[in-house]
Parts: sequence; structure tokens; C-alpha cells
Amino acid sequence: MKKTFLMLLVFLLPALVCRGQKYIALSFDDGPSVTTSAVLDVLEANGIPASFFVIGYNINRETAEIMRRAVSLGCDVESHTTTHPHMPALTVEEMRAEMAVTDALIETYLGKAPDYFRPPYIDTCPLMHEVIDKTFIAGYSPHDWQSGMTAEEKVELVLSHAKDGLIVLLHDFKGNVTTVEALKTIIPALKEQGYTFVTVPQLFELQGVSHEPHCGKVFSTVVR
Ligand SMILES: [Zn+2]
Repeated sequence: MKKTFLMLLVFLLPALVCRGQKYIALSFDDGPSVTTSAVLDVLEANGIPASFFVIGYNINRETAEIMRRAVSLGCDVESHTTTHPHMPALTVEEMRAEMAVTDALIETYLGKAPDYFRPPYIDTCPLMHEVIDKTFIAGYSPHDWQSGMTAEEKVELVLSHAKDGLIVLLHDFKGNVTTVEALKTIIPALKEQGYTFVTVPQLFELQGVSHEPHCGKVFSTVVR
């Protein structure tokens, strides 16, 4: 009897664990840059995708190749404006131009304009939600842009905040090498904890959450 119960438990346990499927999305702001290539190397080595929120003025023929590689690895490329301004300080026309230039650049090089937008400094206002025809994304940030932060500190912060549906906000601006180092520990550790890495669009789809533009929300987690 006891043996039967134990056998049953052995068979049921994996099924119970599977029901608790956990998704997490890594995302990177301020590229594309040479550091984006280093991030892609780590993603590729671990066989996972991520989302890249790029700045229009960083996009040129050379960095477009990095964006193409990202897409070929299953990543998506989204908008982080053209010049990284404090958007609420801009006029409607200036807001539109910030979005339109980067949309056109991404469409030129990748064939499709982005659907998602990360406001620089996560600085938003009601007018932006009216004007910008995209889903607004924030995320949990370990403030990995701060100079002097070690890879170990970044690892500790991301691992201690990880939860189902979280968007992790990191930076792939040129020279942010400690974030690249941190990823080499963060990714295997979260895999070990049962997380599946997805892109931001996949996170909405898998969690069954609608994300209409102009909804007035800024998403940091996406949960059912
Ligand atoms: Zn930024």
C-alpha cells in the first residue's frame, strides 16, 4: 500500500510541477551596440530569446546586422525612441517624430515596425498614451546602468526579484560588460528554478493577456 502511494507520487510529481509553468522575459534597452553582440552570444549559448528596445540614433547599416542576428535567434526588436528624451516634455509633433523615425528605421532593416515601446527613464504622461500607438513596457530594473555595479550585485538583484510573468529591464549600451557577465549566471540559475525564457510579445500571448495600445497601462509583469 505504502509502495503504491510512493509510486503514484513519483508519477504525479512531474505533472504537478508542469502545471506551475513560469515565464520570464529578459529585455535590453539603449542598443544596438557592440555590447548587444556580446549579449546575443550569451543568449545563443543558452538557447533563449530576449527583447531589445533600441534607440533610433544607434541604428545604422552596421548595427542593423546585429538586430538581424537578434531576430534570427528568435528575439524581437522594439522601440525606445529616436534620441532618448524625457517624452512628457515634448510637444505632440515631437513625440510623433521620436516614434516615427525609429519605426521607419526598424521597418527598413527588419521589415516590420515595432508594436511595443519602452519610454526612456520610464517617464510617461497621459498624452503619450493618447499619441503613441504601441503597448507601453517598463519592467523590474536592477539599475544595471549604474557604473560601479558588479556582475555579482546584478545577479543577486535579478534572482531575488524573479517571479512568473516578470519583464526584466537590463541595458546593452556600449561597454555594459558586467551585465553580460551577470547573464551567464542569471540564465542558468533561473532555468534551474523552472523558468522558461520568452520575448515580451510571447509573454503576453502565453499568459493570455490583451495589450491594446492606448490602454493607459505600463506593463512590468504580465500574468493571467
Ligand atoms: Zn534607455
